[in-house]
Amino acid sequence: MTWRWRKRDLRRVSRGLRFRLTASYAILFSLILIGVATGFRWYLSKTLDDQVKQDLNDYWIAAKGGFLRIFYDRENHQYFADWWYDDTDPDERTLVGEIKKVFLLADYNGNVLLDYKTKERQISSTFEDIGIDKAAIRKRIDEFKANPAAPPDWDTRRVSDGIRYRIRGGVIQHLETHEPFYVAVGESLDSNDKVLYKYTIFVYSLVIPGALVVGSLLGWMMAGSVLTPVREVAQAAQRITGSNLSLRIPTRQADDELDYLILTFNRMIDRLESSFQQMKQFSTDVSHELRTPITGIRGQLEVALFTAKTTDQYREAMFNALQDIDRLSQIVRALLLLSQAESGQLVLQKTRLDLGEVIRDLSEEFQIPAEAAGVRLTADAPRDCFLEGDRVQIERMITNLLSNAVKFTPEGGRVNVSAHSFENHVEIVVEDTGRGIPPEHLPHIFDRFYRVTGSGTAPVPEQGLGLGLSFVAWIAKAHGGTVDVDSAPGKGTRFSVKIPTETRETGSMELAGQPAAS
Ligand code: ADP
Repeated sequence: MTWRWRKRDLRRVSRGLRFRLTASYAILFSLILIGVATGFRWYLSKTLDDQVKQDLNDYWIAAKGGFLRIFYDRENHQYFADWWYDDTDPDERTLVGEIKKVFLLADYNGNVLLDYKTKERQISSTFEDIGIDKAAIRKRIDEFKANPAAPPDWDTRRVSDGIRYRIRGGVIQHLETHEPFYVAVGESLDSNDKVLYKYTIFVYSLVIPGALVVGSLLGWMMAGSVLTPVREVAQAAQRITGSNLSLRIPTRQADDELDYLILTFNRMIDRLESSFQQMKQFSTDVSHELRTPITGIRGQLEVALFTAKTTDQYREAMFNALQDIDRLSQIVRALLLLSQAESGQLVLQKTRLDLGEVIRDLSEEFQIPAEAAGVRLTADAPRDCFLEGDRVQIERMITNLLSNAVKFTPEGGRVNVSAHSFENHVEIVVEDTGRGIPPEHLPHIFDRFYRVTGSGTAPVPEQGLGLGLSFVAWIAKAHGGTVDVDSAPGKGTRFSVKIPTETRETGSMELAGQPAAS
């Protein structure tokens, strides 16, 4: 059980961002360390080897250049080594000593020559150990005969106790007979190998693991300090719920990526809050709107049940109740439409519309209510004014504007509806000489259920639902357009809808969010 818990816990930690950051940092760090250490090891080994090569070259030049000569004993027909140096000069003595430490002088057949004076075999103990590679000697001398300028042989040999030697092999000739002999000088690589071995052990098993542990710890701490603000942001975000959407995550004033994230998050909550507010306001408005006609119906039914006595009184109560029911179903219909639009179910059925024809038809329809209100309705319907749009929705939009204009224009006033075609948009204008809208109400008239009440310049005509202009704005937006309003209280109002004629696909009527109107 405990083991299982531990395993789960381990998995959780290893999936954490902090662990992954530290692990990738440690892997990167160790790769760099290993790379640098290996590079340095290669450089060190090369430098040490170059030094040995340099020494061996010096020995070779010293030997060939004068210290070592080949002597030919004509009587015995034998060749000897003849060392020519000043034994009293410590420098020369030391140098010859160094050369002789690892030394071999042999003829073509691999026979070691003797010293002319001391009769010592010209082979050092190291070469005794390594052994004489007769084939190699012959090959080297043959190469020399073919090309006297061939570069020297470099070789590395290991003696029985494991020590490696660097060997430089070349050819020396008798001055007169030109008989070639094989000469090899060498130097121990023991101290170099020891330096490299110590370096390898020290760096690879101590420095790199140590640096890795320290680096990982530092990485763990750094990742922790970087992630602490992220955790704080997450905790702050958790405190924000539907009931306290006004809370915001404080920025750290660091002006970094995290602050940007916090700002973005806060802006998202801003939007959430305003949609929450809208939803709240909407449901309050809806319940309020529904309550009024329901109370009316109830009142009328009570009149019919308890107080009405004559048939006329009954009829009047029923008539009033019917009117309230009409209003109720109007609201329900409008709300249904709204919810359809909001859920994206209201897909625009776009066709090529003759706007002139639409305007002519609608202005004819509105002649009767306009005459009844004593308002002169004129239409300016041009030919060749076309639009890609949904006929039902465009008609609904103009109808709403016209019904408002007629409704809010007193007797004797004028209403004009017109359309104009521009290079890449059409403009529909509905203007009246009605009561106008006070400037303080202008920003709100497109809100749902918003009606201008109170201190109007004229008596408030029959109250609408306060949804007409919301539809106007949303229909315009769904067609990619905008609505502008210009109004002077007591003088009149002018609504202008601009819709682009180059069709931009907007799909369905998105009603969520603010309407695209000014
Ligand atoms: P309603 O259904 O009440 O007409 P709207 O959303 O269509 O609702 O209009 C909102 C408010 O804007 C109206 O209550 C009215 O006060 C004001 N309004 C709209 N059009 C006009 C207009 N042409 N002249 C004066 N006021 C208007």
